[in-house]
Amino acid sequence: MSEIISIANQKGGVGKTTTAVNLAASLAEKGKKVLLLDIDPQSNATTSLGFSRGDYEFNIYHVLIGSKKLSEVVLKTAIENLSLAPSNIGLVGIEKEFYNPNKKNRELVLKAKLKEVSSQYDFIIIDSPPALGPITINALSASDSVIIPIQCEFFALEGLAQLLNTVSLLKKTINPKLKIKGFLPTMYSGQNNLSKQVLADLSHHFKDKLFHVRKGKECIVVPRNVKIAEAPSFGKPVTNYATSSKGSLAYRDLATVIVRG
Ligand code: ATP
Ligand code: MG
Repeated sequence: MSEIISIANQKGGVGKTTTAVNLAASLAEKGKKVLLLDIDPQSNATTSLGFSRGDYEFNIYHVLIGSKKLSEVVLKTAIENLSLAPSNIGLVGIEKEFYNPNKKNRELVLKAKLKEVSSQYDFIIIDSPPALGPITINALSASDSVIIPIQCEFFALEGLAQLLNTVSLLKKTINPKLKIKGFLPTMYSGQNNLSKQVLADLSHHFKDKLFHVRKGKECIVVPRNVKIAEAPSFGKPVTNYATSSKGSLAYRDLATVIVRG
């Protein structure tokens, strides 16, 4: 059975896709069989791995509406051990479908679809959209845990209480095994006092939920790094595009902690 991890935060532009793509690639680099599942209609994870619309006919939308099996939409990527379930803007249509109150178990559609492929992968990493709507609820309901990227900027913790409430509600109801794997500070800039303040706040409130490669060592922080921002335009994870950049090292460290369990 695979370990299923959602990357979620309803705040936009905090580094969800970057984290999903680079964590998935770093796990694959360690020899783990990984499926990156793009469940955001923006399809940024799909594009980040070098796929454009004409490259694939079917996507996760077709899986969720039941016209394709998940295994039928999965694409091989240029990275060994890394497969992708692509998304497409058409996925916005699923929201309507999922909002239909007559649809039974609408929070559990994705979970049911993942069962078919679960034995084929060590990890399934889900990139979710910037909303706490039915798509993200489906992702969280299907997951063992969630990683929450926190952008080290002003308003970083805004909306976090709502996300944490949602996680705890799901835990009490339809997904008792759901855990918060941890918070990942992203786009950290050492010269910026705001960055330092956000990290200090996170350490104060969620000390046990930050990622540590070694006990006693500072927590994993993804630095603001131009290579990370450039990599998607080359259709590559940063771990391939600039393999020894600071951004790559941070995501490899995260993968080390995730593999350790
Ligand atoms: P959305 O909510 O729209 O899905 P997101 O949370 O997935 O956004 P990303 O797309 O990962 O966020 O990142 C937002 C932007 O910031 C992107 O242009 C990305 O390349 C850039 N970015 C992310 N992390 C870093 C970083 N550590 N250093 C520099 N740029 C970064
Ligand atoms: Mg995204």
